[in-house]
Amino acid sequence: MSKALIKHFSKTLIAWHKQSGRSGLPWQDNRDPYAVWVSEIMLQQTQVATVLERYPRFMKRFPTVKKLAAADVDEVLAEWAGLGYYSRARNLHACAQQVVNQFFGRFPSDPLLLEQLKGIGRSTAGAIAAFAFLERAPILDANVKRILARLFAVEGPLQDKAVNDRLWQLASDMLPSESEHMPVYTQALMDFGATWCTSRKPVCIAGEKKCPYLKDCQANLSGQVLSFPQKVVKAKSPEFNCDMVFMRSSDAILLQKRPSKAIWGGLWSLPEAPWKARTSAMESLEINAKELLALALPDEKSGALLKSSSKLIRGEQIKHVFTHRRLWIQIWELNLSKPYEFSGSDLKWVPLRQLGRYGLPQPIKVLLQKLSLARGDDLKN
Ligand code: SF4
Repeated sequence: MSKALIKHFSKTLIAWHKQSGRSGLPWQDNRDPYAVWVSEIMLQQTQVATVLERYPRFMKRFPTVKKLAAADVDEVLAEWAGLGYYSRARNLHACAQQVVNQFFGRFPSDPLLLEQLKGIGRSTAGAIAAFAFLERAPILDANVKRILARLFAVEGPLQDKAVNDRLWQLASDMLPSESEHMPVYTQALMDFGATWCTSRKPVCIAGEKKCPYLKDCQANLSGQVLSFPQKVVKAKSPEFNCDMVFMRSSDAILLQKRPSKAIWGGLWSLPEAPWKARTSAMESLEINAKELLALALPDEKSGALLKSSSKLIRGEQIKHVFTHRRLWIQIWELNLSKPYEFSGSDLKWVPLRQLGRYGLPQPIKVLLQKLSLARGDDLKN
């Protein structure tokens, strides 16, 4: 380990940030822990360009931790729709309630206490503590892992506990000695990983700009920059087929609330049959109509619907790509002269004009817009 690098790392990085760091992002230079927390959670797994559009909207709708805690979780999920990884929205809501109930509406400054809150991991706790409370707390998101793995040529995949522990130790060792520098240092680290020491085209390889660590970086000195961080070979993404029932009765459609632990957890979607592994690209999505209704609506009332199943019409097929899986959705349409009342509270007839109040999975939202069942405005707000 290079002691010289550890000594000058933070000063060099802060100087780099003055010249080349990002500026003008709406969540920057904000010391309000609530605002920092929301931006950190939203930036996980979401592109900056998308967060730039959605963050101000979220903050306008839920301007304080108390307002967020008092909201209905469905409202929060509806606001989050389209951002993916919906457990983040459910955790935001649950965490806001913890802050209000356990900490009188004020975020704690100790990263160890922050880490106890729902949905806040060690790196996010470090970011909140550093930005909002000037605590000397390290962060270790994917960008920082990459920078440190390259600077110190850290061997072994990031998933290994020993590698992770080593990176946390390095992240702590590199912190500036004065806590007042923590916000700018933490921001600089994020910016350096996002814009200069990038995954595929770091500046030392692209040759556009001169990295301030050229002479210290072990990966650069050995000509193996793209070999770090080391990765485990990924298995091919699994693929699934799913049949969904699009049931309409005059100006209402039937929605079903998804279980909170499932994909699109807590959102409202079309009733569906259990997913099946897709074994071949040519596989038919044909399914017996009666079987589908019985699977998608396991309720005593669905028996009456089975008589109508001959009217089930094969609709669109949609392909949806998640980060770690692919899903082919076959839509089956059924128009009813009058809505059946279902006993389960997870099923609900929703008037088309009220669809905007419900958090919908992105492909279902797109489908409804395509079918012109709701004006774009109805689904946006
Ligand atoms: S020399 Fe290249 S790999 Fe090393 S820190 Fe700089 S940009 Fe990253």
